[in-house]
Amino acid sequence: VLRKQLKASHTLLKHEGIKTAPQPTKSLVVANGGLGNGVSREELSAALREMGAMESLVMPPHKPYSFVTYRCEEDALKAHTQLNGQKLQCGENSIVLYLSYIDSVNHQEEVSVTLPQGLVLVEDFVSTEEEAHLLAAVDWSSTNEDVSGSAQKALKHRRVKHYGFEFCYDNNNVDKDKPLPACLPGECLPVLERCLRHGHINVMPDQLTVNQYESGQGIPPHVDTHSAFEDTILSLSLGAKAVMEFRHPDGRVVAVVLPSRSLLVMKGESRYLWTHGITPRKFDLVPACESQSAALTFPDLRTQSGLTLSKRGTRTSFTFRKIRHERCRCAFPSACDSQRTTSPPPTSPPSLPCCRADAARLEKEYVHRVYDAIASHFSSTRHSPWPRVCHFLSSLAPGSMLADVGCGNGKYLGVNHQLVAVSV
Ligand SMILES: [Zn+2]
Repeated sequence: VLRKQLKASHTLLKHEGIKTAPQPTKSLVVANGGLGNGVSREELSAALREMGAMESLVMPPHKPYSFVTYRCEEDALKAHTQLNGQKLQCGENSIVLYLSYIDSVNHQEEVSVTLPQGLVLVEDFVSTEEEAHLLAAVDWSSTNEDVSGSAQKALKHRRVKHYGFEFCYDNNNVDKDKPLPACLPGECLPVLERCLRHGHINVMPDQLTVNQYESGQGIPPHVDTHSAFEDTILSLSLGAKAVMEFRHPDGRVVAVVLPSRSLLVMKGESRYLWTHGITPRKFDLVPACESQSAALTFPDLRTQSGLTLSKRGTRTSFTFRKIRHERCRCAFPSACDSQRTTSPPPTSPPSLPCCRADAARLEKEYVHRVYDAIASHFSSTRHSPWPRVCHFLSSLAPGSMLADVGCGNGKYLGVNHQLVAVSV
């Protein structure tokens, strides 16, 4: 067994750059126990769970190995002693596992490269017991601020409760001089300390927003106001899973499945530049197998075969943030309210054009750019043909020529298929 284990360690280092540790740690790399070897998450997880409480199980897509981190070193030691060189039954096959200690699990391994820069998703970040404690800590029945000491708002799309500081939806900011009487619930402390230990944050958050989404509810795409909160934003997903969409100003869209008990860490570009939101709907499109391929870019969705529908349930998110006390100096001024207020207006007001080039520039700036900016909204609100126009189109003889000049999104093109239509 030792010889084969050493060989496995050597292969991991040579081909994957994974360095094993000589002395026991809390984390192990499980050679042969990977999705690429036909080992399912359920099968491996069942065997590993018997050795003790797991903090995380990372299964990189298409790889023949996995990473497990236990809550304590003793359990990792137990797993190493009892599972190393042992067979794991996977469907009809049995696979021999080789376990080696590693100093730390690189979380980048678990997410697809298509994730926005700075975004990290950690699965199984809290246990089911912790999940239950956290959910029980939120008292939704208390609506009186004087009694509960925390502010609750019945928003149109979801239930929201704030701790530490109240978030004001009128100006999307917080009143930094008025902390709420209720600070963060004590149940959050072990989770936040784990975030500190794992290096997801450097300072303790002082603001918590709890959102509860019923099936069919969502949150519009937004960037958390730069001047209100510091860089790192943590979002813990409890209850049912949901799909969160990230949008870059250049049009890229990345859908991320947020499994139950997972932690989403938003830093840098993913926090400052990409918007994030949850589309209000009752079903999500998710990967068919519960693999680590959590991220799916939308253009790929139509060609993805391994997708399935997932019925939404009640999801509760705990969003932890640190109040910012100085103006934001991020590298994304286009999305930054701190940097916008002090910068001069981008262009001087338009003046009468003196030449053709002037006119072309004006048209580009004030016509083309505006149309480009409003096009998708314009199109989405122009879907019902006017009855009189439909009546006119239907009255034309088959084979008639139709010129629709200024056709918008072309909503009349399909009304009468017997016409030869030219749309401009
Ligand atoms: Zn900023």
